[in-house]
Amino acid sequence: MNYLFPAQPIPYGRQHITEADIQAVVEALHADFLTQGPRVAEFEKQFAAYVGATYAVAVSNGTAALHLCALALNVQPGQRVITTPITFAASANCVRYCGGEVHFVDIDPATALIDLKAVRRLLESQPQGHFHGLIPVDFAGLPVNLEEARALADEFNLWIIEDSCHAPGGFFTDSAGEEQRCGNGQYADLAIFSFHPVKHIATGEGGMITTNREELYQELLKLRTHGITKDPAQMQRHDGGWYMEMQELGYNYRMPDMLCALGISQLQRADEGLARRRQLAMQYDVAFADLSDVQPLSSAIGHAYHLYVIQVKERKNLYDYLRTKEIFAQVHYIPVHTMPYYQRFGWQEGDFPLAENYYAHCLSIPLFPSLSDEEQQYVIACIREFYHA
Ligand SMILES: *Cc1c(COP(=O)(O)O)cnc(C)c1O
Repeated sequence: MNYLFPAQPIPYGRQHITEADIQAVVEALHADFLTQGPRVAEFEKQFAAYVGATYAVAVSNGTAALHLCALALNVQPGQRVITTPITFAASANCVRYCGGEVHFVDIDPATALIDLKAVRRLLESQPQGHFHGLIPVDFAGLPVNLEEARALADEFNLWIIEDSCHAPGGFFTDSAGEEQRCGNGQYADLAIFSFHPVKHIATGEGGMITTNREELYQELLKLRTHGITKDPAQMQRHDGGWYMEMQELGYNYRMPDMLCALGISQLQRADEGLARRRQLAMQYDVAFADLSDVQPLSSAIGHAYHLYVIQVKERKNLYDYLRTKEIFAQVHYIPVHTMPYYQRFGWQEGDFPLAENYYAHCLSIPLFPSLSDEEQQYVIACIREFYHA
């Protein structure tokens, strides 16, 4: 096989930082506010516009975003919330932070997204009011059909938090033929995003909540900063210019001004990055079309391609082989219900056979906007070589 060994290892995902990004952060450092300055509101405004939501709240990371959403929706000890086993643990953990019970539902093997038909069966197996919420995940960047999820949620009186960490810029097409962007608040009560370095927009740590519901927005603002308000309209009294009220138990989950500067700068390239991800994904689709041992997860218009997942035979051997070639693939995800922590609540191996079967075969191969065509050709050549194709 004729190819050059890469100069640097190729990860499954990585950030892309430009000189303009660096300049934006330097400017913020020269300015007056290191934490809550004008760039926070600016990033929120621009991000809300990008996803098509009314309100956005910047927070310290995606996990904090999930926690604040669960608090704002008033998740109480013992309340039951449904999510998918094929996600990052944080999607489930936010329910536990509030003492709620996590209930998993198996995936649709064609998409690896939560199977809404299986969600319906679970809901119908219990009396009304048994479950309180649903946390669907736009896994790998493929948007969940939230119109269907909303219909189900309305029927059974559930709230919805869309975990959209993988899908900024993604959309699904609703029954009226309209494109519905992930996080636009049309169907979900709240949506969350992460700005971890492997995600579409990278700020190191960072997260965002979007919503169209004003009362939830006001509540999130308060919870993000210790439960404190300085808004005279919301206070019980007003002793003077210094006065503020802590009205409930909140947290310090703020995102600093200098990271919002990086977020604003990155957001300007979001469409470009997304277009490149889609192009690379299409090139992988074509390259593996003749390989029966390599099955890409479903593609779709509106897919945001955080991950490019293939399902393969001999996954562990392929993973190890790629490492010897300086290609660092990854597995997304180990089913959350099989984690020792969740086994304490009675979940066990065998509970969700489709998710477990998916896990046995999945591999995320390199996909990020700065991956060059040459690097991608090298990845493809190594995989084909492994299967003697
Ligand atoms: C990254 C991620 C999170 C958590 O985001 P952090 O910013 O790392 O806390 C939550 N859910 C999903 C699906 C993610 O991919």
